Amino acid sequence: MIDWSDEQQMMRELLRKFVLAEIQPHREELESGELPPYDLLRKLYVTFGLDEIAEERFRGSLERDQGSGGRRRDPQEIAMVLLPIIELSRSAPGMVTAMGVSANVTPGAILKSGTPEQKRRWALDLMTLRKVGAWAITEPGSGSDAFGGMRATARRDGDEFVLNGSKTFITNGPYADTIVFVCKVDTGADDQRRPIVSFVLDRGMQGLLQTGPLRKMGMHSSPTGELFLSDVRVGMDRLLGEEAALSAGLGPREATGGRKSARGAFASERASIAATALGIIERCLELSVAYAKTRVQFGKPIGEFQLIQDKLARMEVARLNVQNLLFFYIESLTSGRSVTFREASAMKLYSARAAMEVALEAVQVHGGNGYMSEYFVEQLARDAKVLQIYAGSDEMQIRGIAKSLLRGE
Ligand SMILES: Cc1cc2nc3c(=O)[nH]c(=O)nc-3n(C[C@H](O)[C@H](O)[C@H](O)COP(=O)(O)OP(=O)(O)OC[C@H]3O[C@@H](n4cnc5c(N)ncnc54)[C@H](O)[C@@H]3O)c2cc1C
Repeated sequence: MIDWSDEQQMMRELLRKFVLAEIQPHREELESGELPPYDLLRKLYVTFGLDEIAEERFRGSLERDQGSGGRRRDPQEIAMVLLPIIELSRSAPGMVTAMGVSANVTPGAILKSGTPEQKRRWALDLMTLRKVGAWAITEPGSGSDAFGGMRATARRDGDEFVLNGSKTFITNGPYADTIVFVCKVDTGADDQRRPIVSFVLDRGMQGLLQTGPLRKMGMHSSPTGELFLSDVRVGMDRLLGEEAALSAGLGPREATGGRKSARGAFASERASIAATALGIIERCLELSVAYAKTRVQFGKPIGEFQLIQDKLARMEVARLNVQNLLFFYIESLTSGRSVTFREASAMKLYSARAAMEVALEAVQVHGGNGYMSEYFVEQLARDAKVLQIYAGSDEMQIRGIAKSLLRGE
């Protein structure tokens, strides 16, 4: 694959028109947090049949559970997941974060480890955005070392578990209907030997507090909150994978059970961040080229100065590289070869850095105007930063890539 097909280009144009007509007019309310993003995202899903595609993916996933194994994926199907991300990221990257966590990461964790009943009970409503989902692993004391520092616990009490702990920086936390809560089983054993497991919680359960949105630097159209659990009682039906998860979640060094499930969620999330980066880069480049052609200093458009040309050329290189990473991703899945954890990490690392660099250079091309909120590059620069932090920081990607290389994997 060396370019988007005609059909995919057409889809991009339709998506762009939708974003301009339906989302752009709400920019202020989305950025102030006055308008949560979910109804607009649902409209996007229904307009482009993304809800139907999600239902098909859900059915396909259940069928694969029944033994039909891996499969080649249709490039059009993959593009239909990536193109809305790219197009939304050009105007509202935060909405992509909210959408990705709700419709991909959270149900992804349920599909990976849940029983067929659990998948039917929770995953489909999340994948179609009928319900809002959140995936909660980060805690005030544990981020990059998510498992090592984890304090949230599940204590067994007869047929039930009693959950306690606090989670922070949780995307969709304030509005989530369904939450995947990752914690350690309190077995009385040494902390590092405790199984890591995930429970599915519903909004309004006794002892579960979902705070309002936290104030942050960017991605304002993605609400981020804290969760506090105080003696939340749940049955075995809410433990992902049920009884088997308790032994599978063991193993501090190997990625097994709950650890594996959490790692799996990271891998797909990391790959899709490249699409967000591409949307940001494309928009920054377009805005910078337009500005360089019209802003006159020293009697010439600034685009005639070589130092500005250098910035534009580097932005184009970044755009091509990130786009090619996405084409590699599509080609891999299309040929039935899954993207490895190392490759997904490399994609995430490169794309996040590229988006940040391009966005900062776009601000520079715009001079003082670039620092003003009236100019969209200001928002894009704030939004891009988090790509280097969440879903595993740059440093964690580097660590993972290097470890895998040194192990000869
Ligand atoms: C907007 C936003 C949304 C988020 N959404 C979610 C969500 O939905 N669910 C969820 O569970 N979490 C979420 N997170 C949390 C996110 O995944 C963590 O912030 C991230 O993993 C980093 O953890 P930390 O913030 O605790 O930083 P720390 O782990 O404390 O890291 C601080 C710094 O030290 C570096 N560092 C740490 N360890 C090492 C090391 N071994 N070697 C070198 N450098 C190191 C890090 O790279 C970083 O630069 C979100 C965060 C943000 C900002």
